[in-house]
Amino acid sequence: MELQDRVAVVTGAGSGIGRAIALRYAREGCAVGIADLDLASATSAAAEIEAAGGRAMAVRMDVADEGAVSAGVDAIAERFGRLDVMVANAGIQIVHPVEDFPYEEFRKVVDIHLGGSFLLTKACVRHMYPQRSGALIYMGSVHSHEASALKSAYVAAKHGILGLCRTMAKEGGKHGVRSNIICPGFVRTPLVEKQIPEQARDLGISEEEVVKSVMLGRTVDGEFTTIADVADVALFLASFRSNALTGQSIVPSHGWHMG
Ligand code: NAD
Repeated sequence: MELQDRVAVVTGAGSGIGRAIALRYAREGCAVGIADLDLASATSAAAEIEAAGGRAMAVRMDVADEGAVSAGVDAIAERFGRLDVMVANAGIQIVHPVEDFPYEEFRKVVDIHLGGSFLLTKACVRHMYPQRSGALIYMGSVHSHEASALKSAYVAAKHGILGLCRTMAKEGGKHGVRSNIICPGFVRTPLVEKQIPEQARDLGISEEEVVKSVMLGRTVDGEFTTIADVADVALFLASFRSNALTGQSIVPSHGWHMG
């Protein structure tokens, strides 16, 4: 088992990519703090892990609330005795052309993605630095490297998280903590299902065209990335044997972004 006796916190782990990572880590022997705004989904993910013989703890957490993030991370570290892996994954999507983008909605996207990643980092390194070890893993996106129309808030936030990840590679290095970012292409989760009709409406094209051209048009094979693909990368980054791999962006996207 790759993560035997390690402890992780995964935000947004009630659904989609975060849930797949949490389940994967648990199968590898890791105790997982399942943090989500939606306590019911966090509880169900934790129950699924426990039913399979793993260790998990569900925590209700709004990643944009510093007090909630700090208390949730402390509770997970206290319950399992340490903290080895952070996965800053919680996120939402809101799409509008800039001229129609309510500032409040722009701020909400940035607060959850970028602010949430910052607050989670701050809470986690307090446990990792004294241990002199830890793996920070950020959920970026191909949109950490590329831009798409209608996604100003998301693209800005995801580019920001890439900068935060690189900064943490520099700050964390002397404390034995590494920092990397996963930048997936489109994965068919609830977050993406919601965008298909919205983008069809905003771009004036069919839902099939949104999938074929907007989402998969620049892949090498017209395929979606899967939650299992992303969980594989998250396991690789969490279990890497040394801190040689830090400050890196890994892009599972069927070749949409190369670099
Ligand atoms: P999802 O909607 O399936 O899951 C997101 C989870 O985050 C949900 O459980 C939700 O309750 C939780 N969440 C939302 N706001 C929160 C908050 N304020 N505090 C705590 N939890 C909150 O979405 P997903 O597709 O699994 O996305 C997960 C991450 O992966 C996001 O950061 C997203 O940007 C990123 N990502 C997704 C794709 C994709 O195509 N699905 C591609 C690249 C990156």
